[in-house]
Amino acid sequence: MKTNNRIRNLRRKAAESQDWQCYYCQQPMWETDPKSFSARFRVSDRAILLFRCTAEHLEARCDGGRDIEENIVAACHYCNRNRHRKKRPKDAVSYVSLVRSRMEQGRWHPVLLKQNPV
Ligand SMILES: [Zn+2]
Repeated sequence: MKTNNRIRNLRRKAAESQDWQCYYCQQPMWETDPKSFSARFRVSDRAILLFRCTAEHLEARCDGGRDIEENIVAACHYCNRNRHRKKRPKDAVSYVSLVRSRMEQGRWHPVLLKQNPV
């Protein structure tokens, strides 16, 4: 995904208002410093990539979702990637429900940083 300054600023703003927790799974995310993040949570460098903070369009770009503040939330790489793996991504509300219920069943992230975040 192409990341320009505007998106980066929107992503950071969203992340700050979400207290750096993923909009979907509520796991912590990192933006620029994976090393201290992996030290803090004691996970591998590979697992840490899943928790990179990304800009997520609530209304997907392919549905005409725009790069505006109201449409951008911060989501971890894992949730973002999984939502958009499908040709027709779920709407954001359904996807929140899906992720949260999977989280409760322990069937979402392969590695959890924070237990029972929901
Ligand atoms: Zn997530």
